[in-house]
Amino acid sequence: MKIVDGDMVECDRCESVFPIADVSLLEKETNRDYERVLCAECLSAVGVPKGYTLRRDISHLAG
Ligand SMILES: [Zn+2]
Repeated sequence: MKIVDGDMVECDRCESVFPIADVSLLEKETNRDYERVLCAECLSAVGVPKGYTLRRDISHLAG
């Protein structure tokens, strides 16, 4: 995850920057180190693939 200015994060799909409260995090269930940040628009486009868990509130990860 690419955090910008402490509380902004870059979407891994469209590469736009959003407030961390507005993005979701896809975690691979078999590999917690694999994660993908998605903005709301990209999330509705790709959905949650099988084998992934969606975490909607990741604001605690902000620095
Ligand atoms: Zn996006």
